[in-house]
Amino acid sequence: MFELSVEGHFSAAHQVKGYIGDCADIHGHTYKVKVTVGAGRLDKIGMAVDFRSVKKQLDELLKELDHKNLNSIPFFEERNATAEYIAKYLFDRIKENISSIVAVTVWEGPNYSVTYSPDEV
Ligand SMILES: [Zn+2]
Repeated sequence: MFELSVEGHFSAAHQVKGYIGDCADIHGHTYKVKVTVGAGRLDKIGMAVDFRSVKKQLDELLKELDHKNLNSIPFFEERNATAEYIAKYLFDRIKENISSIVAVTVWEGPNYSVTYSPDEV
């Protein structure tokens, strides 16, 4: 199986409701996002998936989140704007158009990341 990855970035504010500590206050991050897509075979020109189609989809989604308060976006209002839920949100949105997606990793700053990959893809 081939796995292709595409990365992007966005900056946003959030607060982690219920957290005991400074993350409960509103603050910002520059998030890095990696989308991984799998392919069992290559097409006739030797490509699994066109990087550009994945990048376009990712950039459109990240544009919706960029410079926003994540907690005000309906998906996160109902949950919490953690890196975990950001990864799940992006995974589910991308899967609507790219069914071969296998994982989304979200970095909250340079040292902390979460990867979401459902048990059944
Ligand atoms: Zn934070």
